[in-house]
Amino acid sequence: MIVLGLESSCDETGVALYDTERGLIAQQLHSQIDLHAAYGGVVPELASRDHVRRMPVLIRQALAEAGVSMAGLDAIAYTAGPGLAGALLIAAGTGQALAATLGIPALPIHHLEGHLLSPLLADDAPAFPFVALLVSGGHTQLMRVDGVGRYALLGESVDDAAGEAFDKTAKLMGLAYPGGPVLARLADQGVAGRVKLPRPMLHSGDLNFSFSGLKTAVMTQLRDASIAPADMAAEFQAAVVDVLVAKSLAALKQTGLSRLVVAGGVGANQALRARLNEATARRRQRVFYPEPALCTDNGAMIAFAGALRLLDGEGEGEGGAHAVAVRPRWPLDSLSAPR
Ligand code: ATP
Ligand code: MG
Ligand code: FE
Repeated sequence: MIVLGLESSCDETGVALYDTERGLIAQQLHSQIDLHAAYGGVVPELASRDHVRRMPVLIRQALAEAGVSMAGLDAIAYTAGPGLAGALLIAAGTGQALAATLGIPALPIHHLEGHLLSPLLADDAPAFPFVALLVSGGHTQLMRVDGVGRYALLGESVDDAAGEAFDKTAKLMGLAYPGGPVLARLADQGVAGRVKLPRPMLHSGDLNFSFSGLKTAVMTQLRDASIAPADMAAEFQAAVVDVLVAKSLAALKQTGLSRLVVAGGVGANQALRARLNEATARRRQRVFYPEPALCTDNGAMIAFAGALRLLDGEGEGEGGAHAVAVRPRWPLDSLSAPR
């Protein structure tokens, strides 16, 4: 069965085709970074308009890439939330319209489920159950995952997400947009510990996080002109990584599980990966990541989540018109398993 996946929740238009027999057979992605750079952040109205423009082109390109026709599709999966309402409506409207036309099921997919299941696309995929560390631009959560749609929230950020902290700190340090990866590259040239930043909620005794205080601490210390920006970046990255690693290990301990899955844009961070690899290897635990290109938003993870749900019987016998509904806010642990 072939599933078309559509993603437009924020500033990436993603389209992909997943074949349940052959795996990923096409992947098209357009990033709006250049469009929003002048504003230093995503402008929702511009994002929606660009998704409308790109989506049909990317769909045609994906079908051509795989050598598949519209008639060869078995289902269409689209991101239904969470995200920017106007942006979400592009994939939702396109997906529902195509599915109704073709008489095939349309599967509304939770964006974070896409991120969370993306490590399963790798050759060396983890088995259920596992602990997932979701670290993206909008979310920082630890989840217990027992299967598709079986998610229990263990802890989350009480304020900024880890990626958001990277982006905001980069912005106040005057780094190029989008700041997260730029700050990470600068960090690799500096030395952590020359300046001291807090490790927020490291000893809070729960699995929650707080990252908004870090950017304030950076802002205060930046007034001291003798601090090298690279050293500040390195200490900032070390502070975030220290807390993410400690809480992930605590989540494994609390659940008694031995597999950790890391997903979302911050999962591309090399310092985080190095520390998690080392810490889990020492404890005979294992950590799994999506390939770096699939850490940030893409259509592949949506097509894949849709395919898993389709295989489990979701959307069976479906294939008519539906209301186009999106959920800009949508708790992941409110999902249910396909059957
Ligand atoms: P959400 O998935 O919560 O809706 P999002 O889709 O915007 O948010 P992602 O696309 O998963 O988030 O990830 C983008 C985030 O990842 C940005 O905040 C970005 O700064 C961060 N990021 C990407 N690469 C790195 C890196 N190497 N180090 C640290 N952060 C990074
Ligand atoms: Mg993005
Ligand atoms: Fe995302």
